[in-house]
Amino acid sequence: PETITIADLANRMSERAVDIIRMLMKQGAMHKITDVIDADTAQLIAEELGHTVRRVAESDVEEGLFDSPDPEEMLESRAPVVTIMGHVDHGKTSLLDALRKTNVVSGEAGGITQHIGAYQVQTPLGGLVTFIDTPGHAAFTAMRARGAKVTDIVVLVVAANDSVMPQTVEAINHAKAAKVPLIVAINKIDLPDARPEKVKTDLLQYEVQLESLGGDVLEVELSAKTGQNLDKLLELIQLQAEVLELKANPFRLAEGTVIEAKLDRGRGPVATVLIQRGTMHPGDIIVAGAEWGRVRALINDKGESTDGAGPSVPVEVLGFNGTPEAGDRVAVVENEARAREITDYRSNLKREKAAARLGAGRSSLADMMS
Ligand code: GDP
Ligand code: MG
Repeated sequence: PETITIADLANRMSERAVDIIRMLMKQGAMHKITDVIDADTAQLIAEELGHTVRRVAESDVEEGLFDSPDPEEMLESRAPVVTIMGHVDHGKTSLLDALRKTNVVSGEAGGITQHIGAYQVQTPLGGLVTFIDTPGHAAFTAMRARGAKVTDIVVLVVAANDSVMPQTVEAINHAKAAKVPLIVAINKIDLPDARPEKVKTDLLQYEVQLESLGGDVLEVELSAKTGQNLDKLLELIQLQAEVLELKANPFRLAEGTVIEAKLDRGRGPVATVLIQRGTMHPGDIIVAGAEWGRVRALINDKGESTDGAGPSVPVEVLGFNGTPEAGDRVAVVENEARAREITDYRSNLKREKAAARLGAGRSSLADMMS
């Protein structure tokens, strides 16, 4: 149910909390300023104090964000978004680094130098793949908890000399829960003690049946160290993506998800955003969580300024007034007024929830002491 603290209610009406408490007392309820009251009671009090009440439901303010359907004829195919997961030390970082270096997108010498938390690589078949380059499991779980689905494919790295370990199983479970297809990368096959066949049979225990054993999970044996079969992995990703028929509408106000965000000394709040629908442009008014801003610049994974980022493209977004959080969903809105309406609503909600938690904490502490 909707609630508000007495302090917050007083604040919003510019009334004294003590007067609200007195009114509640007349109705026979004893309250302190940090207590939470329900929305109906709050409305009665506000009206009694001569205020007009406009109760804003979530459905009104958040209307149209993230859930509006796109017409079929606007959909265009987009690059798959890939997260690399696996047990610690099985080679996730090495693989991400090696793939980044195979980058044919840039063509020019040097390639990508900028670290923005995600990057795009061209596959030998000509398509693009977007890799999310943030610490795997934590980010993946945080984003899922916020309802953001950013990953189309999980590449599960399993070291051939170590086989299936606890975090391998965790990653399998994450992918299954999110209904995201797996591609298994059996890594470190350059090592003399590599046992790729053991990895394959060990995976069977977790219902991951590789193609070479008659199943339908794509696999590749590779080495992040020597670079062997990296191109094969990219090909498999593109093949898997073609099966998924990934599409998005680039011709609309942009929506996406914050992959990571920080407060930069020189540049202010900087968020790496994965665009998921629409195209983001400098000058756009954006909201993410309880923060909003106007896009001052978009920086791509090569560190270049760009004037448009479409579906599956990761970009650094400059121009937020505050720093959003990883996992926050981002949307471009029509104007500043709309951005303020949304973020005011969300920050109030955030404050009320925090107060409610605090209130609940206090009363239980009081209970324990009485
Ligand atoms: P992460 O914890 O999964 O990110 O694993 P890292 O990428 O940090 O790799 C852990 C260790 O394994 C490092 O010492 C890497 O150099 C090494 N390593 C990663 N990939 C390979 C590989 O293909 N072959 C060999 N021999 N070593 C590798
Ligand atoms: Mg690592």
